[in-house]
Amino acid sequence: MFPKKQKFSSVWYAVGILLAANLAVWSAVFSRQDDFLEFTVFDIGQGDAIYLRTAAGNDVLIDGGPGDAVLSKLGRVLPYGDRKIELVILTHPHADHVSGLVEMLKRYRVERMMLPEVEYETATYTAFLNLLAENHVQIVQPKLGQRIFLDNSTALDILYPIIGHFVHAPDDINDSSVVAKLSFGQSQVLLTGDAGKVIEDFLLKAGLPISAEILKVGHHGSRHSTGQDFAQKVGARYAVVSVGKNSYGHPHSEAMDALSRVHADILRTDEQGDVSFKIYPDRVELLNK
Ligand SMILES: [Zn+2]
Repeated sequence: MFPKKQKFSSVWYAVGILLAANLAVWSAVFSRQDDFLEFTVFDIGQGDAIYLRTAAGNDVLIDGGPGDAVLSKLGRVLPYGDRKIELVILTHPHADHVSGLVEMLKRYRVERMMLPEVEYETATYTAFLNLLAENHVQIVQPKLGQRIFLDNSTALDILYPIIGHFVHAPDDINDSSVVAKLSFGQSQVLLTGDAGKVIEDFLLKAGLPISAEILKVGHHGSRHSTGQDFAQKVGARYAVVSVGKNSYGHPHSEAMDALSRVHADILRTDEQGDVSFKIYPDRVELLNK
């Protein structure tokens, strides 16, 4: 039996200061030690598509990957008959993140869509925006300091963008990426989209709470992300690289070396397939062999 979905309540959305330590204590109060959330970085080819299902049964999808491969992936992880996704996050509008969301929006009901406000024009992104409007999907604009409760015991803290930080027209669209930290009890996952080193440096300088057991490695393992200081500060035990066949040479050895030096266990979707975890309030369990 799947747990009955807990509706996002009035506590779903709150803006506050980031108090990660308090969150751990607070979340531990509300979560039972045998509750877990499912977290899967799909093997989606060269792109990102990440799925999580909270202990209370709320579904969250972060990016849709290239093409429409995300549809069969979702079909496998969502409970039979579940056609509703409570929150979808588009980290930034590049095709390897947004394409799959177009087909997804034709088949699933999305309660809320988070996307950064950024100027970008492609046929795919325009089709995506039109579908959001047609389906009357509620838009959430991410900003630093926002805390979104995915259920009573799971929180998502937005670390980037900050309003006005070259968001609307960055030199590199990758640097409009939503960066967010998922917290369930003391377990944490850092999600970075394709954010580059300039954003990593901002997070470091601002002293934001970026440490996490699991890091979704930025920009498919590009050398333009995952600086040594950043890798060190995150201190992830597991570093998941979402990567497929590509002409960029991803993942680059510089980024992989930075992770190896801090003893992260590197998991690549092109080698391992879907990378899945069960995340408990006090530990994370890697499900792949
Ligand atoms: Zn990408």
